[in-house]
Amino acid sequence: MKIASVIVDIPTQALDTPYSYAVSDEMLVGDGGLPAEVGCAVLVSLGGRKAVGYIVSLDEVEASPDEGTDLWGTPRSAADLKQVEAVLTKSSFDEEGAACALWLADRYAAPLSECVRLFTPPRAVPRIVRGRDGRYRVEEPAIGAVDDRWVVRGEAFDSFEPRKNAAKQKAVLAAVAAGDVRVSELAAEYGNVASTLKALESKDVVRIEHRRRLRGMDGCAPACRTAPPPLTFDQLAAVNAIEAARAAGEGRVVLVDGVTGSGKTEVYLQAIERTLAEGRRAIVLVPEISLTPQTVARFRGRFGDAVAVMHSRMSDGERYDQWDYIKSGAAQVVVGARSALFTPAVNVGLVVIDEEHEGSYKQDSSPRYHAREVAEWMMARGGGALVLGSATPSIESLYQANKNPLWAQVGLLQRANGRPMPAIEVVNMAAEFASGSRAMFSGRLTRALGEELSLGRKAVLLLNQRGFAKFLLCRDCGFVPECPHCSTSLTYHEQGSKLVCHHCGYSEAAPPVCPECGSPYLKKFGAGTQRVELELRSLLDSLPGVGPQVPIIRMDADTTQAKGAHQALLEEFAAADAAVLLGTQMIAKGLDFDDVTLVGVINADTQLHLPDYRAGERTFQLIEQVAGRAGRAELDGRVMVQTYEADDVAIRAAATYNRGMFLRAELPKRKLLGYPPYVRMANVLIWGADEHEVATEAELIHGQLAEIVRNEVGERWSVLPAVPCVLGKLRNTYRYHIVVKAPLEDDLSAPLVRLFRTRHPNPKVSAAVDIDPMDLL
Ligand code: ADP
Ligand code: ZN
Ligand code: ZN
Repeated sequence: MKIASVIVDIPTQALDTPYSYAVSDEMLVGDGGLPAEVGCAVLVSLGGRKAVGYIVSLDEVEASPDEGTDLWGTPRSAADLKQVEAVLTKSSFDEEGAACALWLADRYAAPLSECVRLFTPPRAVPRIVRGRDGRYRVEEPAIGAVDDRWVVRGEAFDSFEPRKNAAKQKAVLAAVAAGDVRVSELAAEYGNVASTLKALESKDVVRIEHRRRLRGMDGCAPACRTAPPPLTFDQLAAVNAIEAARAAGEGRVVLVDGVTGSGKTEVYLQAIERTLAEGRRAIVLVPEISLTPQTVARFRGRFGDAVAVMHSRMSDGERYDQWDYIKSGAAQVVVGARSALFTPAVNVGLVVIDEEHEGSYKQDSSPRYHAREVAEWMMARGGGALVLGSATPSIESLYQANKNPLWAQVGLLQRANGRPMPAIEVVNMAAEFASGSRAMFSGRLTRALGEELSLGRKAVLLLNQRGFAKFLLCRDCGFVPECPHCSTSLTYHEQGSKLVCHHCGYSEAAPPVCPECGSPYLKKFGAGTQRVELELRSLLDSLPGVGPQVPIIRMDADTTQAKGAHQALLEEFAAADAAVLLGTQMIAKGLDFDDVTLVGVINADTQLHLPDYRAGERTFQLIEQVAGRAGRAELDGRVMVQTYEADDVAIRAAATYNRGMFLRAELPKRKLLGYPPYVRMANVLIWGADEHEVATEAELIHGQLAEIVRNEVGERWSVLPAVPCVLGKLRNTYRYHIVVKAPLEDDLSAPLVRLFRTRHPNPKVSAAVDIDPMDLL
């Protein structure tokens, strides 16, 4: 008999500790079912109800029951413990995964059950449901393994003579003669083949075999394996730095700071190759949106079937199979979005995070972890190294590379093909406006479009939409229609002339006159991609040498909803002669087309006005990233940045590729105002349906937090007052927040964890903490 520590998966058990259960010897060896191991989902009872739990450790029962406690303070006596009632699944994680889940809960002040769930295959875990009769039962997961039925040659295959007129039989036999074939493929080709197969099977001419299908492995073409090119001098220095970091085996970090197209991916590929040669595995994280088949093909081209892929646009079944493939040990490289960190890859010696500055590496729901930090923890524990790559590293990472002895920085200063970075021109829209132009496209951008497109080349136009609403504004009284459920203005949609809330989905017809003052002069403020597309269309049609035959490919949230749509649009753009790709932020990264010679940013400054201390950093990064899409091959590229804030340092610095200039202006501001990278922040969010209750609870939490901080750390920390969030109302819930700032070297999480573990839950008001928040909205 052993004692299992079990994290019970009940949401109200938030932030609780694991519970101890006894595990019988039969259960340990899997007598009559799956064996109980760390990482298994099990059935347990807790306070009169049944629940699913996860085993995070299995310990021997000590000889003397009075002696010793386990990690969780539970006596090691099995006598009065409840039993684990059943093992529901095979193991999803090992001791390392369990340790990581516990660390996540402490680090991000998150419920244990939510942290442990990161490690289970998506939607493949059983649930406990309570029937009408009040009894609990286990509901099997909807997702599981799928077998394909294959037709293969039987003993009598070679000697069998089909009858002359048995056409279907002959077709099936011909197909099988060419190789094993799926029943589904035969059915697609020849219609219903069930009786034919049955007849052939009964004579032992063919056999039907069940084989596990691996969904999500398509696009695996070992035939097109690519050989590694010889590295440039800079690339070799980067690979060597990564090797040194790996050899140290203490979780060192290498920041690969390389301009777009400088060959960072090639550096990752060769560093991975060396990792695999030592029998260890690698995980590569890329931003969700750049997880295109091209990216995957690059890794499969080098490592073939050893690559597993994991991202949220895959179906649950595909993800389940990839997860299982990793678990089987066959996958040596996992390429995926941030959640790929939690797949059951063992003996990982290298984690690569590409475009490390991307906001999508931070999860915006609980547990609010940052993949960079989790990977750093994992590599420190597992004796590996972490590689961060970017053309525009985050200020936090630049700071660490500068100050932290475990971090190193290597630069790739030139594009791998020796081409120069394109020149960036800033177009001052305020001056255009003053000279009488009201158009969305400046004279200079229009001229450049005409020149490039008429030569059969391509353009990429970015419409910067973050924090940018397309709203209606009454020119007479200034009225802006707002969502009745959220404190945001409604977004105007050209299609169907509707006003829509992007937070809660509320929609109404756009009013013909101002609902406040009756004025008919409602201005459509800002421009959505649809409207820009219309204006661009008429502009292109009027340009000599361009005209209606030049397609505009629009890429935004609307046109990329369907599975594979993103890919299809990019292929359309690649296949066209002259063409314009018009899109939102999603086009700023990863695109690699030889014949793009012009990049235009229609509105560079929209996010500069957000109440967000990272606004300047984000603007700088966006311009540098999108500029990198131009002139990647033989043809020179140029970039035009339209802005009303031509003097802003983020824009001037980006336009001259001068990161130093940007940092010299930005860092003193951050230091003075007390923002990262000089302090660590936590954002305590408090929300609920009743504004008064939320405000009261926020005050209460503020008082408790201030007291804990006063008693435990003193004056070095600041706990700012509880105030309504910028987005003070969202989907009919009211939101307050409290910002906490601490010196870098302090453990920011511990006092917050203590607060949340001892806080009396208020059924009407929820609270959560975001450690190192991406924004404070
Ligand atoms: P990044 O990831 O920095 O944007 P990539 O690794 O995608 O850069 O490289 C840009 C282009 O240069 C790719 O087409 C790649 O195949 C090519 N390339 C990279 N390194 C080399 C090299 N050492 N020799 C030749 N071509 C290279
Ligand atoms: Zn009005
Ligand atoms: Zn709303």
